[in-house]
Amino acid sequence: MTTADPPASKRSPVLPRSWHRGVMRGLPGARRAGALAWLILATALIPACSDSTPRNVLLIVVDTLRWDRVGAYGHDRNTSPVMDALATEGVRFERAYASAPWTMPSVASLITGLYPTGHGVMTAMTGMSGKVLTLAEILRDRGFRTGGVVSNHLIRSRPGRGFAQGYDTYRGSEAQGHDHVSTPGVTNQAIEMLRDFARTDAPFLLFVHYFDPHFNYRRHPEVDFAPARVGRLDGRRDIHQLRSLLKELSEAEIAFLLDLYDEEIFFTDAGIGRLIEVLREVGAYDSTVIVVTSDHGEEFRDHGWLGHTRTLYQELVRVPLIISAPGYRGEPRVVPELVSLVSITPTLLDLLGIDREGFRFHESSLEGHMRGEVGDAPAFVLTEVGFLPPGMPRGVKRAFKKAIVGKRYTLIRDEETRKIELYDLEADPGETNDLSAARPALRDQLLRELEARLGRARQGAIPPDLRHLSEEEIESLRALGYVGS
Ligand SMILES: [Zn+2]
Repeated sequence: MTTADPPASKRSPVLPRSWHRGVMRGLPGARRAGALAWLILATALIPACSDSTPRNVLLIVVDTLRWDRVGAYGHDRNTSPVMDALATEGVRFERAYASAPWTMPSVASLITGLYPTGHGVMTAMTGMSGKVLTLAEILRDRGFRTGGVVSNHLIRSRPGRGFAQGYDTYRGSEAQGHDHVSTPGVTNQAIEMLRDFARTDAPFLLFVHYFDPHFNYRRHPEVDFAPARVGRLDGRRDIHQLRSLLKELSEAEIAFLLDLYDEEIFFTDAGIGRLIEVLREVGAYDSTVIVVTSDHGEEFRDHGWLGHTRTLYQELVRVPLIISAPGYRGEPRVVPELVSLVSITPTLLDLLGIDREGFRFHESSLEGHMRGEVGDAPAFVLTEVGFLPPGMPRGVKRAFKKAIVGKRYTLIRDEETRKIELYDLEADPGETNDLSAARPALRDQLLRELEARLGRARQGAIPPDLRHLSEEEIESLRALGYVGS
């Protein structure tokens, strides 16, 4: 671990004047007051170093958040003042990886500590088995009150899907597809749960899943990062329309999509700010571990596609990970080592002082990293995709791939064609120059690492529940862009 000095603009949670002018101007009165309250709180952040063991967990997942569009990760636009403030007082993991490039397998890994091969949730037709132990179940068994608010219908509570395992209350009413702006509703429901939790002395787990940065990319004019229109685009086309134009979109049009995406991130970040204000208001901030991360990134034609689910390149699997925990707050800290989101569940157990004896996780806890020890850092992390579109409509490719990401190199294997790609992430961060033929010894070494990790993940793997999708679910998947139009 290193204690790094972030750039001056990131060092203080005080926001630049241009942001203030540009954003506050457009906010309605109540939201302006809320944003101001956050600003005042953020400016007054007192390093809350405490030796006390945290009691509660606030686990925030922002769907489809690329690490490089977050200010704390070096984005040159102020998309994420709230997340940046959390990173400033907490621990930021510079190289964190999701276990999969789409929601279901990735979130399942995050809440079980198992790679997709271990929990079996690979396609939309698989559900997490009741035999899989989730973070919520572990905590509820120890007296925690557990609540979840999710806005992606893929992880809503449905028979056989398994994501609600262990929750006293699990709400999915904000999962209404792409043209529904869900951040305010998610935040309100999460605040309601938080206030309810605060009425008793029991510790709590609150899982909050935001969705707005996920396509369709919508305008949030009050944020004002994007012009009204560029070329053929004005922020109203859905993902299928954009994909049909993908090859002919100009660079300026792609940049416009990224502007819209940044607006969605900022809008979501403000919702997280409201939630954290209430965490302080109910007096739980100093006893709560806050985790902010994402289930996967997003591709803006980096490798010829728009969206996610089909490849394992960095823009899809590398994600932000920020942990702000009592006892670890104060100086900004950056962990440069590779970590997998599979580590989040064991890390939370460690931070809460819960004995991990008897539980099986595929990667170790990050608590040592947070304390400055690097002994347990994995040399490689695994990512997997086994995406099979329901009904196999024409024009939508299946994707069965495994990748091993190392400090410098990444190797991706297509499980159907057996094609192998090898990239040098230092020399070629865009992954355009495949070295698999030029570097056979390195390729073979990484293949062995891949097999070793897959072998470990297969041991004790729990088969998923297989489920038939209803017409309504297939329609939802189509609307989500996972099935061809
Ligand atoms: Zn997702």
